[in-house]
Amino acid sequence: MDLPWALLLVLLCYHGQLLPWLRTVGEPSLDEFYSEAQAKMFLQFYEQTAQVVLNELMEATWNYVTNITRRNQENMMQKEAEWSQFMLYFGTRARMFRINHFLDPDVKRMLSKLRNIDKSALPTKDLLEYNKLLTYMEAAYNGAEVCLNEGPCLPLEPDLEEIMATSRDQKELLWAWQGWRDAVGRQLRPVFGDYVHLSNKVAQYNGYEDMGALWRSKYESDTLEDDLEQLYTELQPLYLNLHAYVRRSLYRFYGPELIDLRGPIPAHLLGNMWAQSWGNILDLVLPYPDKPPEDVTKIMKIQHWKPEKMFEEANLFFTSMGMLPAPPTFWIKSMMQKPVDGREVECHTSSWNFYKFNDFRVKKCTEVTVEDLLSVFHQMGHIQYFSQYQNLSVIYQEGASPAFEEAVGSIITLSASSHKHLLARGLLSQQHLDSEEEMNFLLGIALEKIAFIPFSYMVDLFRWKVFDGTIQKSVYNQEWWNLRDRVSLRSPGYPGTHSVDQADLELNSQVLGSKVLKYQGLCPPVPRSEDDFDPGAKFHIPASLPYVRYFLSLVLQFQLHEVLCRASGHVGPLHRCDIYNSKVAGRILEDLLKLGSSRPWQQVLKEMTGEPNISTKALLTYFKPLLNWLVTENVKQGDILGWPDFSCSFEEKVTSKVSFLGTEAEPDQAYLGQWVLLSMSFVMFFLILALVFRLHYLEKQSLKKDTVVVKTMPSTYFLGIAMEPHQAVRKQWLLLGLCFILMLCCIGLLIWILTQSTGKAPWTKDEWQS
Ligand SMILES: [Zn+2]
Repeated sequence: MDLPWALLLVLLCYHGQLLPWLRTVGEPSLDEFYSEAQAKMFLQFYEQTAQVVLNELMEATWNYVTNITRRNQENMMQKEAEWSQFMLYFGTRARMFRINHFLDPDVKRMLSKLRNIDKSALPTKDLLEYNKLLTYMEAAYNGAEVCLNEGPCLPLEPDLEEIMATSRDQKELLWAWQGWRDAVGRQLRPVFGDYVHLSNKVAQYNGYEDMGALWRSKYESDTLEDDLEQLYTELQPLYLNLHAYVRRSLYRFYGPELIDLRGPIPAHLLGNMWAQSWGNILDLVLPYPDKPPEDVTKIMKIQHWKPEKMFEEANLFFTSMGMLPAPPTFWIKSMMQKPVDGREVECHTSSWNFYKFNDFRVKKCTEVTVEDLLSVFHQMGHIQYFSQYQNLSVIYQEGASPAFEEAVGSIITLSASSHKHLLARGLLSQQHLDSEEEMNFLLGIALEKIAFIPFSYMVDLFRWKVFDGTIQKSVYNQEWWNLRDRVSLRSPGYPGTHSVDQADLELNSQVLGSKVLKYQGLCPPVPRSEDDFDPGAKFHIPASLPYVRYFLSLVLQFQLHEVLCRASGHVGPLHRCDIYNSKVAGRILEDLLKLGSSRPWQQVLKEMTGEPNISTKALLTYFKPLLNWLVTENVKQGDILGWPDFSCSFEEKVTSKVSFLGTEAEPDQAYLGQWVLLSMSFVMFFLILALVFRLHYLEKQSLKKDTVVVKTMPSTYFLGIAMEPHQAVRKQWLLLGLCFILMLCCIGLLIWILTQSTGKAPWTKDEWQS
């Protein structure tokens, strides 16, 4: 038995006698040792040891991410290896029980959960390599910085994120956008193929076809992919309307040089490094700019908020609903801001369960802003979940599904960001919002939530296709962008929705295999190549964390919000609801959280909402007033939905240059040049015709002369040289042939130029210059 010392210790301390199945590995014929009664003892044994080993792993990992040193890294990797051995030991044995004959559904469920041991299933050598690879990728992301010319180097948090959020200078935005991708993506590109290979190996050792399938298995649903597609389709009109509206607003600000009203939006102009949420550009896109919302961040700063106060504020929300307060350890051990003692830390926000009574922590480099305040609310949702299910078996200490884990805190942020709540908490002073101000408010929420819809969906769509081999290594980056800028092809049948014709459909099918996808409508602001690896610039890709949970959580949080609002007695539009202080809502939520993952999420959802499926209904209700407004506005502006102009030749648009005879020229010049070229072709054509007649005449003459005078002095000139007439004639025919070829080239070139630059005939000038 090759077990870590910690496990051995627990084994020795364990008061029971050595259980039969400890001695019977590899002897599955001994059926009685794999009985249901034995299974219960096995699970009990697992429970007691797992808590110890898991706690050590969490401590070691925490030490590393809050103090990145070589020693801490080695220590963490050591603990990971121990955890893997532990899981391998229990996982292999869990697979030997024939659970089909068991009666206790809990025993069956726990054993089947234990069978999936993730990377622990890998052979030692592969596991070592896989762990090294994962650590390398995450370290590359966390250590990346973008350096100014002869200046300091900026990390992602907070500097680059702040530039992306606040700068309105497209050159500066481009610098940060491109710099971050150069710094991270290019480091990950060479190793990502190996990561995919090893991940798939992990999946196969666990009985799945590829890593995407293993990830999807967490949702216990055979129809997950179709369900996601369906949800996306239902939400698409909302996204397309927001996209068109924001594009028009950015067009007003940045002008036609940067924004094509029929095309995708350049990805660096949306206030966020990944363009995943657009709340930071609210000032550029406000429906009623003369009624701007109050600046909560500014108010927080005037009131001298500190990161700790932000956590207290979120904690207060939960306790007001009669739910659990964060335990004392939380306040002592969490990392609530970026340390100033020179430690290198991983800033990416996360919440941690240490599998020890009341030991939960958050790691966040908190800044005093309203965005971070809401993010703190989200994290405190995770802490609440941990606290509520900590009395369950370790096996059940996770959300009903990954989407539920993400939804809890977000439900609270929906209330916490309402005008009513912020006003009550002294973070706003204006008593009432009129209908125009309300539209400003709703648009602000939509920039966070609706803009996130396609992004949260496509990150895993991309990875699933990478894992199953549909997207090959040689086209990773190209396909990433294809996912982002392909227009949706399934018309949702909404008023004003752009539908795409058959040609587009075929084009997309070619690019993306048989399945047609729906995406963000964004394009890279500078040309990309396969040396780049833009997906790697998002944390969850190097950290190997599944992402579709955020998409599902987005829909789910509105569904649960609606139920809790109704329970709390709220009347009126959903976006005005605040469940603060509602003990009834608190109890309903607690009942959900307490279950952990002990029951399939469909059951849990049905009990709470009456529906077994995740539904977009509540989300659509919440945004109904905004959607109506957006549709009217887009129709008024004559905006089209979607982005039929697929290409995003940003560089060319910036310089306003077009290609002409291989050189860059102003569109006007190129246009004139094309006409000159055409006229020249005509002149040449007539010249050649004239030459043909002249030659024909000469030839006739020389034939006559040849028969009459056999030997006379040369009397014909060719290019000023006197020669025999028949020689001159031959040379002239040669010249004619040459001219003819030249003319054909000329016409061919002209056609090529016209189709290259516009795809339209030159006389449609207006279209060409728009
Ligand atoms: Zn979260």
